[in-house]
Amino acid sequence: MSAVIINGTKIAEDIKREVAGEVEVLARRGVQPGLAVVLVGGDAASSAYVNMKAKTCEQLGIYSRKLTIPSTVTTEDLLLEVRKLNDDDKIDGILVQLPLPKHVRKHTILEGVDPQKDVDGFHSHNLGSLLLGHETLVACTPLGVMELLYRSGVEIAGAHAVVLGRSDDVGKPQAALLMHANATVTICHSKTRDLPQVARQADILVAAIGKAGMVTRDFVKPGAVVIDVGTNKVADRADVQRLFGNDELRRQDFEKRGYVWAGDVEERSVKEVASMLTPVPGGVGPMTIAMLMKNTIKAARMRRGL
Ligand code: NAP
Repeated sequence: MSAVIINGTKIAEDIKREVAGEVEVLARRGVQPGLAVVLVGGDAASSAYVNMKAKTCEQLGIYSRKLTIPSTVTTEDLLLEVRKLNDDDKIDGILVQLPLPKHVRKHTILEGVDPQKDVDGFHSHNLGSLLLGHETLVACTPLGVMELLYRSGVEIAGAHAVVLGRSDDVGKPQAALLMHANATVTICHSKTRDLPQVARQADILVAAIGKAGMVTRDFVKPGAVVIDVGTNKVADRADVQRLFGNDELRRQDFEKRGYVWAGDVEERSVKEVASMLTPVPGGVGPMTIAMLMKNTIKAARMRRGL
């Protein structure tokens, strides 16, 4: 068997087109949704993500504002900036780009975002509402995974879904979303015994552990749908060879940039047993931004009762 590769880039483009349509509808009612992205420090990767988000807003007609704050900022001063955005009527969504510098209390900042503007879905109010099954703002990456499953025609109800990882931003909300979609859900983590054996029970396997290529074909039941959330920078030549063999495009990429992106799933062995598989890059990654745009529209509507 060779798995169907789910094209996250294409599905994300479809969603962005739908969002642009919704922006037009809101514009007719005199509303322009607005997103503020807060970047602390000058980390190159974070800065690139923030610029990509701003560019996507511009393409879709969403107002965007970027706040660049020095990495020396205190938790209290950053909280003041977040509160200003909470009170700013032009802003419907607030995203604080992670990671934050070590001296800043991340939890205090994330809890300082108005839950109604929490387009990342990280506030305890929103995570709690998700667990209760209430309509709320949900973390973009797990939401994107659900869209990939729906739009690829995967039957979720009654399926056994195994989620590898229990982080607050991916694993936990992912498990809740799958449970609400009537899957039977198992959550695994670093203390799970015999991980491959548990993973092999999955009809739907979601890998969000942050370990390049850890999920090999031993983890996958023949015919399972495998979603790879992992985004790992691989900068070691031997690792690139181990993960991608003689893949010429990856090799060229590595020679050019000195690293390649790899998922948690070892694509070349897993695609032989899975029925569907998301690639890295081009799977879950583009969906995260598309869902951020969708969440911004949702926040704009919810805040105004539209
Ligand atoms: P995280 O906060 O580091 O959580 C990792 C989870 O994996 C933890 O629950 C951890 O278990 C578990 N884990 C680690 N090693 C394990 C092992 N050997 N066996 C079993 N479980 C193990 O990471 P995250 O934020 O959830 O992100 C996970 C991956 O997704 C990363 O590669 C990240 O870059 C990627 N990601 C991608 C996107 C996207 O847009 N595509 C968005 C977010 C994250 P414990 O809880 O026991 O420590």
